[in-house]
Amino acid sequence: MTQTRSAALFERMAGLLPGGNTRATTWYPPFPVALAGGHGARVVDVDGNEYLDFLANYTAMVHGHGFPPIVEALERTARNGWSFPAPSEDQAELAARICARFGAIERIRFTNSGTEAVMVAVRAARAFTGRDVIVKAFGGYHGCWEQVAAGAGEDPDARAELEPGIPAVVADLVLQVPYDDAGALAATMAEHGDRVAAILLEPVLGHSIEPASPEYLHAARRIADAHGALLILDEVITARLHTGGRQTQLGVTPDLTTLGKVIGGGLPIGGVGGRAEVMDVFDPRRDRFVEHHGTFNGNGLAMAAGCASLDALPAAEIDRIDLLGARLADGLTAALADAALPGRVTRVGSLLHVHLPLPELRALHAAALREGLYMAPRGQMSISTPMDDELVDAGIAAFARAAQHVQHATGSPAP
Ligand code: PMP
Repeated sequence: MTQTRSAALFERMAGLLPGGNTRATTWYPPFPVALAGGHGARVVDVDGNEYLDFLANYTAMVHGHGFPPIVEALERTARNGWSFPAPSEDQAELAARICARFGAIERIRFTNSGTEAVMVAVRAARAFTGRDVIVKAFGGYHGCWEQVAAGAGEDPDARAELEPGIPAVVADLVLQVPYDDAGALAATMAEHGDRVAAILLEPVLGHSIEPASPEYLHAARRIADAHGALLILDEVITARLHTGGRQTQLGVTPDLTTLGKVIGGGLPIGGVGGRAEVMDVFDPRRDRFVEHHGTFNGNGLAMAAGCASLDALPAAEIDRIDLLGARLADGLTAALADAALPGRVTRVGSLLHVHLPLPELRALHAAALREGLYMAPRGQMSISTPMDDELVDAGIAAFARAAQHVQHATGSPAP
């Protein structure tokens, strides 16, 4: 497998973009494979190597690449113009679909990324409650905005670990709690609850695909209510787990929900939605309102692609990809055991994560690429709708070959 062109492109880009990339998640040593195209559940790199795409742009491409209904929607929009500073029917169409799917979303506004959606949700919660502090979970990922990347927590040492460029004063506004631990959340809220605008949680940790228990999320709802704080569920990744997201699956009703990825069919998008009473803080007819701007908010391409994406994701299709997810998880688990690798696989619906110690994970990721399997360097995988049993089995076979290489290279004891 040659990577000459990927290497050359990396050299070129390193002189133009710091680190040769524009998205830190996608970097891995010595240089990432550069992709040139994708069709269905396959991607091809700039050297012409083909991969089964079990990453699907970190779950955003739930319909794979070149999905005909999305291509048609994009072509139709492109011919008609796609960027206007005005309300439009396609904004209404996507909003109506999301409000119909999510019982807790009575009103929604669109952004250009999940990161922005979280920023806007936090702003709304602060405006609504008149409070400043946000509670989030350790390990919770809500985009690269400094206020959610930071977390002073209860531990003063945590400040020393703040990423460069995050002022301590910002970190003071964020309290971090252990995930899926209702007692710890209750204790933090008992002490600080009167300053807390919102509890911000992912229903499943996207970084590692570890779900919170339903009891935890229900407890978070009660604890938020008891302290007059809002509950924000970040469903940027988990919206795909049910037509109404993980919240509907588990019967938890947040005040605000943040969305992204699948609601835009692979175009840049985010959304913040929720109770009308809270969302009304954005209403410009009010004397004092939260000014939410954005040149590209609600742009036609993202709206049209989003409608096509959601229309192709009814409950039956979600059930089908969830079953494929179970098949994949079983196959990967067996492959790890066969290779005697000290790992495990977590899965929620069509979202998966392979957990391994870092040296084995690095080796496995590199070997998987050589075997034609595209997955996240950190171990994340997902199912997209172009997949079927056969394709999943091909992915499992490639993973199993990669795992055997790792076993030989790292000398893990044979079973
Ligand atoms: N929240 C969650 C739960 C996410 O998984 C992500 C992105 N992976 C974000 C927010 C940020 O979204 P974006 O990358 O579109 O800014």
